[in-house]
Amino acid sequence: MSFNPSILSSPLAYLKGVGPQRAELLARELELHNGEDLLFHFPFRYADRTRFTAIKEVDNEEMYYQLKGIVTSKEVIGSPRQKRLVVKLKDDTGTIELVWFQGVQWLEKSILHGQEYVVFGKPQLFNSRFNFSHPEIELAAQDRESQVGLFPVYSSTEKLKQRGLATKAIAKLTKQLVSGISSNELPEILPAWVLQKFKLCGRYEAFKWIHYPHDEEQLKQAQRRIKFEELFLNQMGILRLKGHHDRTEQGPVLKAVGPLLQQYLDHHLPFSLTNAQRRVLKEVRQNIIYGKQMNRLVQGDVGSGKTMVAFLSMLMAIDNGYQACLMAPTEILAKQHFQTLSGYAEPLGIKIGLLTGSTKAAQRRPLLEGILNGEIPILIGTHALIEDKVQFDKLGLAVVDEQHKFGVAQRAALHQKGTLKPHILIMTATPIPRTLAMTLYGDLEVSVIDELPPGRQPVKTQHFNDSHRLQIFGFMRDEIAKGRQVYVVYPLIEESEKMDYKDLMDGYESIVRAFPMPQYNVSIVHGRQKAEDKEWEMQRFAKGETQIMVATTVIEVGVNVPNATVMIIESAERFGLSQLHQLRGRVGRGGEQSFCILMTGHKLSNEARTRMRTMVETNDGFKIAEVDLKLRGPGDMSGTQQSGVLSFRLADLSQDQAILQAARETAIELLSADSLMERPEHAALRYHLSLQRKSSTDWSKIS
Ligand code: ADP
Ligand code: MG
Repeated sequence: MSFNPSILSSPLAYLKGVGPQRAELLARELELHNGEDLLFHFPFRYADRTRFTAIKEVDNEEMYYQLKGIVTSKEVIGSPRQKRLVVKLKDDTGTIELVWFQGVQWLEKSILHGQEYVVFGKPQLFNSRFNFSHPEIELAAQDRESQVGLFPVYSSTEKLKQRGLATKAIAKLTKQLVSGISSNELPEILPAWVLQKFKLCGRYEAFKWIHYPHDEEQLKQAQRRIKFEELFLNQMGILRLKGHHDRTEQGPVLKAVGPLLQQYLDHHLPFSLTNAQRRVLKEVRQNIIYGKQMNRLVQGDVGSGKTMVAFLSMLMAIDNGYQACLMAPTEILAKQHFQTLSGYAEPLGIKIGLLTGSTKAAQRRPLLEGILNGEIPILIGTHALIEDKVQFDKLGLAVVDEQHKFGVAQRAALHQKGTLKPHILIMTATPIPRTLAMTLYGDLEVSVIDELPPGRQPVKTQHFNDSHRLQIFGFMRDEIAKGRQVYVVYPLIEESEKMDYKDLMDGYESIVRAFPMPQYNVSIVHGRQKAEDKEWEMQRFAKGETQIMVATTVIEVGVNVPNATVMIIESAERFGLSQLHQLRGRVGRGGEQSFCILMTGHKLSNEARTRMRTMVETNDGFKIAEVDLKLRGPGDMSGTQQSGVLSFRLADLSQDQAILQAARETAIELLSADSLMERPEHAALRYHLSLQRKSSTDWSKIS
């Protein structure tokens, strides 16, 4: 296939009205280098040039208005250095002022007294009257051409506007570009059967219409087509890579159902597994018995019992003569896992090692030896695990707990730890909405533990403001009198660390005053403490020696004190939804009814209010993640920042789930029928993907 992509690959300087200087500015300010970049610089909004608002109806600073009227006066006022141009625009209903502080001289000359103009912009209230500052303005007569259809509005920057490259001028360039492209230059890449199945318009039309739609209907068609294309290409990239991985990557073959797993299941399992736990284990087994290297993400809400799934998977590895490791994001968690798993493993007589940053040299040496010669079949630790010095005899399975604290590089480093790439099981309690999982982790298999162990009562959540503090203290006393324990958590955000620290200490003091010794004991844990002190305080609380734990978010992830039934979150409005949900997961771990109390100030933003309401209404981590995605957009979701994958031009993962689903299913269908894309109807797509791969993200680096 060959074509001559002339306009699209030409530098923008070749367009009329763009000299070298403007070209450089467009490149610097908007990263527009050539025709193709400009083609993808989609309008962010469209103005319907057929509709005008009467001047007297302008009354909202949040809205854009389009006005049509006669210029009745223009005046340059102010000092020579701070000149401004004030123009009065009049229609049948009233008069409004238009003001410019820049380009005053030029505008003063070009705006003509007594002529009819179309003005577009956002009003502002000034001296209790509305005016427009720096609106778009154009002679009404000149506008005739664009009066049919929707007019594109492009994003620009201050610098570009100063050089005459506001939205209007950019529209002139896109017009030139779009009318200069022939359909050969923008050939169809989607197979005909896909276009038919989803009734998508052609690629060439879509790109013309996205800039210059005739009407709403055309615009919608163009948008749907381009979103589909973006998401489809994304999924093709991911799934092809995964297909390649599945065909070629060999991992350890863990086939035998050995004595340890059997013995454990038959005699030592402390509870019966939930159906969800069983299902996930089956999914894991399905991967590892054939030795296809597994990359599996297990999503399970806090308390859903991921640790047991990890342990049983580890036994599968050991039964086949391999070792297993578990990596946790913090030292506290690593130790807690060490204790839990040591307890599980004891009746089987399996040795477990613990390696963290604070493991002393004297203990480290024998530990590293035992790992290297295979005497220690399970190693638990922090990031210290993936240091060069740690060498396994035969690593078969690596479990990574709380993956969101864990990046790309770490996963790659784990791969280096075995002669064969070990199987990888990633456990996360931060549920990721399906849409994100598909795009972000598309190359991972996903298992979901969607069931809590029986007998758990959902945590009751309530939202109070600070004036109810005494009432809350009363409630704490009641719970403590029943023998329960309470967390009180304060935010700690780096930028305002000092203030936060003060809040924490003030809060601690008032709690100590309200809960005095010797009747009560209060623990405190925060980031400024030494690791030993933190550990000591945590242990006291875990053993029940203290009733109240005042802490910053260091306790966020994973800590397990089943007797704690109350989680009080101070300044809850400062936490994101997923963090709130994580914190709430620290209670409700035993059989007792547990409570989560969100304390906030009186005044809340709408968004904060939505967060509080969501927490009160649901305990379902997936629902919470969906709301979080809607509120914050995918760019801010935990774990997504580093990937860069989510910068779709048009598709919005919080809105376009149905299109994503269709795109994914189509990609799967296509690849299962023609995995190497050898059929003639897939040639154009294959060619496009090969071009794209050269220039874009390496999908294997995601997650
Ligand atoms: P998480 O998924 O948050 O890591 P854990 O593995 O820490 O959850 O499990 C939470 C608690 O539930 C632990 O005390 C664990 O012993 C218990 N648990 C796990 N699975 C079951 C089960 N099937 N039945 C009863 N209790 C269970
Ligand atoms: Mg856990």
